[in-house]
Amino acid sequence: MKKKLLNILKDLTEQTKNSQDIPVAAIIIDDDGNVLSQACNTRVKNNSLIEHAEINALTSAVDKVKSFHLEKYKIVTTLEPCLMCLGAIEQAYISEVIYIVDNHKLGPLTCQMLDKSTSRLKITKWNDIEVEEYFISELKNFFKNLRDQGDDKYGRN
Ligand SMILES: [Zn+2]
Repeated sequence: MKKKLLNILKDLTEQTKNSQDIPVAAIIIDDDGNVLSQACNTRVKNNSLIEHAEINALTSAVDKVKSFHLEKYKIVTTLEPCLMCLGAIEQAYISEVIYIVDNHKLGPLTCQMLDKSTSRLKITKWNDIEVEEYFISELKNFFKNLRDQGDDKYGRN
């Protein structure tokens, strides 16, 4: 199951390269690992503040099940969710977030936002160093390419 999910995540981050979006992907799965929805980050592509991979995957999932009650589902993301996405994940009653790469900019804030006494959302890190290194290098290459092109729209990362 992990290999299948990983291949989908890799394909999705590849898709961001056409639009110069930060290579981040998300998949929503059920307990058996069946994929309900999948998406990549399309913020630059659609010039949108909110089209992070997680929001896109959630929107597609809600369309498919015709409900925003996604208690039976988990979300797998290549990057630890930002505050906006974590908020949306909570609003959708997702049971678990499984993320691959730590988000050093927003991760600590994200963890603080979650009140462990009231939130039922489980947050798990996908513990596989090779997988983590793959997505870290995708992110690093992305920002290095931007800097090489003299583009600093994302600032220093
Ligand atoms: Zn986000």
